[in-house]
Amino acid sequence: MNDFPTSFVIDGVVHPALPMPLKPSWIEGAADDGFDLIGRAWDRYHGVLRCRTCKAVSLTRINVFRDRTALCRACIRDRREADAATLGAELLGPDSRDRHYGHYLLSCGHIVRRQFHRMTTAAAGGHAIDCETCREVRYADEACAYGWTLVGPATSGRSGYRRYRHGCGHGQDISIGNMAWGDCSCGGCGTDWSGQPSFVYLFRIDLAGLPVVKLGYSARPAKRLRHQLGIDRAVRTEVLRVVPLASGNLAVRDESACHRHMRARHPGAIVPKAVFGDAINTQGEIYHATALPVLQALLDRIAARHGGPDSSG
Ligand SMILES: [Zn+2]
Ligand SMILES: [Zn+2]
Ligand SMILES: [Zn+2]
Repeated sequence: MNDFPTSFVIDGVVHPALPMPLKPSWIEGAADDGFDLIGRAWDRYHGVLRCRTCKAVSLTRINVFRDRTALCRACIRDRREADAATLGAELLGPDSRDRHYGHYLLSCGHIVRRQFHRMTTAAAGGHAIDCETCREVRYADEACAYGWTLVGPATSGRSGYRRYRHGCGHGQDISIGNMAWGDCSCGGCGTDWSGQPSFVYLFRIDLAGLPVVKLGYSARPAKRLRHQLGIDRAVRTEVLRVVPLASGNLAVRDESACHRHMRARHPGAIVPKAVFGDAINTQGEIYHATALPVLQALLDRIAARHGGPDSSG
């Protein structure tokens, strides 16, 4: 008992050691939790524990390490800081109102409040942390591309929606997903995606052993090819040609006329859905690559009729 210290420094504060015994059952209980019980301080209900992992010294109620499980706050903080670092963030400190939450500085410079265990899960799973501020900035940029301004949360409170204001001054709730594609009509001035410029396109899609061509229309053909058709990344694809038209309605009309012509005059060029199956996420509009000259001629006619600039290549 002689080598017991006369005082302990705990969290930077000096506590005189109390000359009281350490029961073997307490020493065992502390050891089970990964601590050495090195003395008593503060009052008769507290023991002084030293973490075997990080050597940090703490003042802990005896009934905690005797009857329950003592935890090392220093080790927990180390783990949380490591989780944050894995995610490119910095743990600024615990939330003052809820011990399950901490405040983090993200790599983008924004500060977010997050549950500790969610950060642990994200770090272990290799996920990124979503920053609400950056996300709203992204939504605002997407809206801006189509002449809308992001105002804030949806008036309806509906999730997945935001309040936007159109260039004409009219405000309305629109789903974030539709806004990302510009698929929204303004209830104020009647501007509608179908009134926006659109394109009839030809895509080449080299499925294994089955080179095909897709003819269709879209306001954003490159996006359509890359993100909406569900084509395996290993498959070589190419936007062969786009013919710009003044509106989505004109594009639909001309595109439908092309398919009608192909069904009537070149039925053998059509690749049935049963043949390409799930390789392309569409119901039809797929032709054998050998039909390309016929399809190009149809697009030539559309381009000539509308007299607009054509972009091939
Ligand atoms: Zn520790
Ligand atoms: Zn951010
Ligand atoms: Zn409007």
